[in-house]
Amino acid sequence: MPNIVVVGAGVSGLTTALLLSKDPKYKVTIIAKHMPGDYDIEYTSPWAGANYLPFSTKEGNRWEKGTWPELARLAKDVPEAGIYFQEALIYSRKKDAGGPVTDWFNDLLSTTPWFKDLVPNFRILPKSMLVPGADSGTAFTSVCINTAIYLPYLVSQCLANGVVLKRTVITHISEAANFHHSGQKADLVVNCTGLLACKLGGVMDTTVVPARGQIVVVRNTPGAMFTISGVEGGEDGDVCYIMQRAAGGGTILGGTYQKGNWESQPDPNTAVRIMKRAIEICPALVEKGQGIEGLSVVRHGVGLRPLRQGGVRIEKDKIDGIWVVHNYGHGGYGYQTSYACSQGAMDLVEEVLSPKAKL
Ligand code: FAD
Repeated sequence: MPNIVVVGAGVSGLTTALLLSKDPKYKVTIIAKHMPGDYDIEYTSPWAGANYLPFSTKEGNRWEKGTWPELARLAKDVPEAGIYFQEALIYSRKKDAGGPVTDWFNDLLSTTPWFKDLVPNFRILPKSMLVPGADSGTAFTSVCINTAIYLPYLVSQCLANGVVLKRTVITHISEAANFHHSGQKADLVVNCTGLLACKLGGVMDTTVVPARGQIVVVRNTPGAMFTISGVEGGEDGDVCYIMQRAAGGGTILGGTYQKGNWESQPDPNTAVRIMKRAIEICPALVEKGQGIEGLSVVRHGVGLRPLRQGGVRIEKDKIDGIWVVHNYGHGGYGYQTSYACSQGAMDLVEEVLSPKAKL
């Protein structure tokens, strides 16, 4: 009966714990400083939109490709998960080629991306459907996740499978092995600490940095998701996207993508730019003739994407005699890679704990 401690209760930790708990041979404890229900700058998952807009290249797409089927299944068959299908419209401007946002979006802006046969209804938008300034556009049926419902849903699924959750703060990853609910030392620790992997003893991954995302949540309902390759007149790191969350979760207006910026407080000027651009890209957000006064604001917020140079870290490691499987560094794609990354972590857990590995 291997005892496993998962550190982290964001989308990465909860999804990994859920997959592990489906195998009755594993006894799983989740420990975390922050849990679903909290809103904190050190806890990224609640701040995400979140949707499925692939950022990877064809060569690096296994995490996004492997996660779509499960997100689509949840959207289709499990309404209580807070995920639903929603159309995504992506506009591209030639002048943004080679810029920081296009670099981030990679294949997303292509008219022949690798995922065109994976997601439903992929199509090239006719000129008549483009917003002013856009040179081309695509659309497909994506999913939008209401994180305020989905994270508690993951917790409920874990609890149903016997996972125990404890609120604990550790300073070194090897300490986690002492917190298994059995009272015995854990056989293995899974590290899903997100951005804080850069500060955690035994890990101290200095290649993990924040990519700051400021958002505005509004009650207005555009009925679809929108994004564009670049924006006019913005400071470095301004981006523009809109997504309407499932089940009355409000509409997320974004945003920013500011590498290395740890600022936790929303900037009022940035907020105004975000709201103005959202109306430019989707005039239907407000009544005809209205500007940002037509938006009904629920809250302003900031989340820090756990960006890792070189991409997500899914690796096994032995630290101070304790087996650790890492699953952190998901940048702006932690939901859309969650199932495949967690399956990758689970494969490593099985490899480490298999009797052959112990010989
Ligand atoms: P977190 O959610 O940060 O969880 C880390 C966990 O580890 C927490 O529970 C924390 O308390 C715990 N922890 C850390 N250190 C310790 C310690 N020392 N002791 C105990 N516990 C510890 N992704 C998408 O796929 N689609 C999107 O549309 C999308 N939009 C986004 C928009 C914004 C504005 C932002 C900010 C992010 C967005 N993302 C999106 C990215 C996504 O939110 C992240 O990749 C994901 O949430 C990371 O999850 P995580 O579980 O790895 O980290």
